[in-house]
Amino acid sequence: MARNVLVLNCGSSSIKYQLVDADTGECAASGIAERIGEKVGSVTHLRDGKTYTYQGRIEDHAAGLDIIRRLFEDSRLELTDAGVVAVGHRVVHGGRRFTDPTVLDDATVAAIDELSVLAPLHNPANVTGIRQARKVFPDVPHVAVFDTAFFRDLPEAAATYAIDREVARKYEVRRYGFHGTSHAYVSGKVAELLDRTDLRQIVLHLGNGASASAVRAGKPVETSMGMTPLEGLVMGSRSGDIDPGVLFHLNRQAGMSVADLDTLLNRRSGMTGLAGVNDFRDLHRLIDEGNTDAALAFDVYCHRVRKYIGAYLAVLGGLDVLTFTAGVGENDALTRAAILRDLEGLGIRLDPARNAAASREPRTISTDGSAVRVMVVPTNEELAIARATVAVI
Ligand code: AMP
Repeated sequence: MARNVLVLNCGSSSIKYQLVDADTGECAASGIAERIGEKVGSVTHLRDGKTYTYQGRIEDHAAGLDIIRRLFEDSRLELTDAGVVAVGHRVVHGGRRFTDPTVLDDATVAAIDELSVLAPLHNPANVTGIRQARKVFPDVPHVAVFDTAFFRDLPEAAATYAIDREVARKYEVRRYGFHGTSHAYVSGKVAELLDRTDLRQIVLHLGNGASASAVRAGKPVETSMGMTPLEGLVMGSRSGDIDPGVLFHLNRQAGMSVADLDTLLNRRSGMTGLAGVNDFRDLHRLIDEGNTDAALAFDVYCHRVRKYIGAYLAVLGGLDVLTFTAGVGENDALTRAAILRDLEGLGIRLDPARNAAASREPRTISTDGSAVRVMVVPTNEELAIARATVAVI
């Protein structure tokens, strides 16, 4: 009997979902509900190579889940009959309290809600999704899998911000790290493929959000996201690292409020802020058209990633494998090549033909003689969440 897990990733106006067989990794159906709460929303449901769609107002997350359930029926896959053993929820912030996948009850949901002070942009939507999903699917266990969990044992030297210790303690200011499910899955997959547990790895998760991690023998020792997912690499619409003094300056000189600055750094920065587009396919098109803003945005992006590679090489004291994953990392050979340009001195040699070959499979893209193996490993957060979910129920 298949152990299917319905994996849900609820954002403020979206629900991404997949029905995953936790044992085989097979995905029976997947989809996304978008623009929830807006005038016109949509749900796109994929099953057996066929697309089923809904267009119209989606009042709230409960309505979205109901439409998703109907689309499952339309695609002749009733969720109740599909052997759904649990619902696995992606939750962004687990704080210090949630360091492992957790079976949800009223008390744990309330505790995740309390963590919204640490992740005001993410946890409230996750909690709304959990509450509604528990109503729509009351007969199966619901499990939260946290984006921060993989980084729970980050060394104190990496997790600590150099600010007044009392302030940091009282307000739980420390580096938590995010995209943990992806970094755990990808670094684990690399270790499995190479059949080695002692590897020094750098994982570059380059998607709309972007983060890097340094992993030694399966344990993360550094990561680029911090107290929030805003720190580190340049992202689709987030700035990544920035001198906090910039915020004081903009507050004093431009009269920008905390809310204004939050919007600036989270939504009007990164590639959107620099080039006006956040999708790398659009970015390359603009660069080809001679757009100098887009060219600079690309250079800033690659420069930042290179800086982190250098830093993590030093943190790890050497490097065995560097792996690209997520939307940009898996698909964009140009960006991979620009990031790793002229790094032969660090033992990193990309093979241009291997790098250019498109594939959905894990693969090596460095030369046979490269001291550091460079890989592309497609991430699969849904499968990782499904496996974590069945492990605790
Ligand atoms: P993710 O957040 O992992 O889903 O990544 C989404 C991002 O991946 C998009 O915003 C694009 O920038 C990038 N992306 C997806 N497909 C491609 C592609 N074929 N070539 C370049 N970039 C891509």
